[in-house]
Amino acid sequence: MKYFSTRGCEQELSFEETVLTGLAPNGGLYIPSEIPQLPANWKTEWANYSFVELSVAVLSLYIDEAEMPRDDLKELVTRTYAGFRHPDVTPLRKLDDKTFVLELWHGPTWAFKDVALQCLGNLFEYFLKRRNAKHAAAGDQKSEKLTVVGATSGDTGSAAIYGLRNKANISIFILHPKGRVSPVQEAQMTTVTDANVHNIAVKGTFDDCQDIVKALFSDREFNATHRLGAVNSINWARILAQTVYYFSAYFQAAKQLDIADPEIQFVVPTGNFGDILAGYYAKRMGLPVSAKMGVATNANDILARFWKTGRYEKVDGDAPEPIADGKQATKDASGVHETLSPAMDILVSSNFERLLWYLAYEAEGSREKACNTLDSWMASMKSDGRVQVPVKVLEAARRDFCADRVSDDETLSTIRSHFLSSTSYVVDPHTAVGLTAAERMAKANPPSTVQVVLSTAHPAKFSEAVSLALKDSAQFDFDRDVMPEEFKGLLQKERRVIDVERPDIQLVKDVVEQHVV
Ligand SMILES: *Cc1c(COP(=O)(O)O)cnc(C)c1O
Repeated sequence: MKYFSTRGCEQELSFEETVLTGLAPNGGLYIPSEIPQLPANWKTEWANYSFVELSVAVLSLYIDEAEMPRDDLKELVTRTYAGFRHPDVTPLRKLDDKTFVLELWHGPTWAFKDVALQCLGNLFEYFLKRRNAKHAAAGDQKSEKLTVVGATSGDTGSAAIYGLRNKANISIFILHPKGRVSPVQEAQMTTVTDANVHNIAVKGTFDDCQDIVKALFSDREFNATHRLGAVNSINWARILAQTVYYFSAYFQAAKQLDIADPEIQFVVPTGNFGDILAGYYAKRMGLPVSAKMGVATNANDILARFWKTGRYEKVDGDAPEPIADGKQATKDASGVHETLSPAMDILVSSNFERLLWYLAYEAEGSREKACNTLDSWMASMKSDGRVQVPVKVLEAARRDFCADRVSDDETLSTIRSHFLSSTSYVVDPHTAVGLTAAERMAKANPPSTVQVVLSTAHPAKFSEAVSLALKDSAQFDFDRDVMPEEFKGLLQKERRVIDVERPDIQLVKDVVEQHVV
């Protein structure tokens, strides 16, 4: 299997090159040269597979055996999920006859990004080790290393740190705005004291941090010297690792419902479109998904607006909506709404480009034309902040997906209603966005359809929203009902963090040069 960029197809990469490169030099995202189809006997053969076995089966379809022997893949995947706290890795939990949640937060940082980032860290390490072994065998002194640099407002940073801690030949530098990430997230990041992990607390905003990271990546000399690597969800390996849990959900639903062919609608709380895109690949591979996939957004609703209008547009002209307690939702300088589901606070969805490529391909019938179209669409996004797709393309998008936007008030009320229901289940605000949208989407489904809402974080990670929702419930106690034992000691643990006094690229460069292995 080879991979090419959505914005130009002349060059094809191996899986290894794709994973190590991340973003294509022309700004495009890598996609596979074809979408592999499931083997004819998948439904019986895979039905009783463990999560690890399912991962090997799915990943094998995208990684040539010549590139990675199957035993190596199996060993890597086994190691990847050994630390997850649940034997099913991503257990499916029934809320009522028609609604399930797929709990994706049983990894080290209690959020869904662990599923893919644990795998990505091991892939980076595997490929670098193998390259260096070849150099050594050839007698050259060369040693290949990777320096991962990223900015975070919370979730991605901690999941990346846990994915890359203690990995050979890799250094990781994560910038966060000092004092502006939640206490649990800050503790999760800064209590990792492995020698290759460096937390940089920048006196400034998240945007300042992101600007510095962008400037480092576009500094050719610095990038060439340190071989900068990215861990955001544009990396193909992250999408691939996530396709596995859609298969796992299918088989778990079949067992729990005791039917051979469950009719499932997946509803996914969405920001950068990485999580739900994995489901689209699973469907295109042949997983039976009868209902439209549900895109659930918060007030940052660029995707919900796209499915309404066919216009992919950075900001709408709407006034900010009022949120809980009559406060006005705030927008930061870049136009992002700050909501109670902060991991979905985005302006544009980086992985949406991959879906747009498939839609353009369907409309135009050739790879070359699709790449040219994407190149021009993304150019108008850059210059005008918007692109209007043809009706045919919008219709194709509506065939496979539906979309809805959920307010902070609705998010809070959904957290409340699930806590007060007979199953009394506490959900985090991102999952609540998914559950709210699912309830509305259910109206368009035939009665035989069940919904699987992807649960992307444990509620203890987002205490602000959960406490706000449940503060008037006498029977609710955050520490007793939500806090996992593992979190309780975290805030007291030893921390390691490097302070940077101003958002200044040179100061950050100095830190990297001083600490890189
Ligand atoms: C990252 C994240 C999301 C959004 O996932 P995308 O792949 O960016 O769409 C949703 N919920 C949580 C908790 C997250 O961390």
